[in-house]
Amino acid sequence: MNNVYNFSAGPAALPSSVLERLKSELPEFRDAKASVMEISHRGIDFMKLAKKAEQDLKELMSIPDNYKVLFLQGGASQQFSMVPVNLLRGKKIANYANTGHWSEKAIREGSRYCGVNVCTDSTKNGFTDIEDYSSWKIDPNGAYLHYTPNETIAGLEFDYIPEIDMPLVADMSSSILSRSIDVSKFGVIYAGAQKNIGVSGLTVVIVRDDLIGNVVKHQPVLFNYSTQANNDSMYNTPCTFAWYTAALVFEWLKEFGGIESITQHNKKKSELLYKAIDHSDFYSNNVATRFRSRMNVPFFTPSPELDKLFIEEALNENLLALKGHRAIGGIRASIYNAMSMEGVEALVSFMGDFEKNSR
Ligand SMILES: *Cc1c(COP(=O)(O)O)cnc(C)c1O
Repeated sequence: MNNVYNFSAGPAALPSSVLERLKSELPEFRDAKASVMEISHRGIDFMKLAKKAEQDLKELMSIPDNYKVLFLQGGASQQFSMVPVNLLRGKKIANYANTGHWSEKAIREGSRYCGVNVCTDSTKNGFTDIEDYSSWKIDPNGAYLHYTPNETIAGLEFDYIPEIDMPLVADMSSSILSRSIDVSKFGVIYAGAQKNIGVSGLTVVIVRDDLIGNVVKHQPVLFNYSTQANNDSMYNTPCTFAWYTAALVFEWLKEFGGIESITQHNKKKSELLYKAIDHSDFYSNNVATRFRSRMNVPFFTPSPELDKLFIEEALNENLLALKGHRAIGGIRASIYNAMSMEGVEALVSFMGDFEKNSR
């Protein structure tokens, strides 16, 4: 059998060595004499693991000491609510950049709590480009600026961090740990784990100390960052298995050489794939070159019928989950951290064959 390469957008592929470790440690977790799924989150074995995961993430991302790292549930979508609840702090307006599907969802939820000022809007270019930052209409009275560094569906990714004088909030679900960033530029970073951190169920939130503890009244206690921070993300039972998987992924990434190495790796992988698309008049991707995502690469053949055939035949070659999101159709290859260069090479080689056979 050929190697299997999984291009799923999420839940996404895990590094194979992480899967191997999960398998070998599953019945009996280290010194616990029981599975990691069966032990108390407050016992010594799990506490050790939880602390290590936090330290490893801090080290990987060079998270400054004035930030708390939270391991929560509810997905990135719950942060669409928790962000306004915790960050409005008496203000009535927040700024949101709309660069795609997930931005829109954050905006819709934010509008339930405050006036949303959409300071830039990529709907007018079909989410293929980002307006020049100098033309964004940011309301200086806004409590924060929310944006989505990588839009997972259209494959539109910022190549810079907006400079701003108010808390900057980023939904990094599909790009966290994929390239080096300066965490100190952010008020809040959040990410569902199922793309670059591990398995679904866990949401990592990195929040600056001074933004914790001034919450909108009458909200669920679990929505309060200070409840979570004061209890080390263990106010109630956390998603222990997902936390454990994240710990393994962080260890894998450190062994890989950390963020600098993975940044280079992701750059090379995506360049190879975009080159294959651009060097052919059969395949196309219409995202502005500068803002093409390194994580999610959507592309099209000349017709929806051929797209469909491509996806079916790729599956026969063990290239999995290449169907584009239903919102835009076509083909999408998600090439998160766990995707190897061999996987991208196999896809590029299949693309060449498919093009030849379709002419
Ligand atoms: C996948 C994704 C989400 C949704 O995350 P959930 O954990 O399912 O809520 C939100 N934002 C972005 C950018 C994503 O890629």
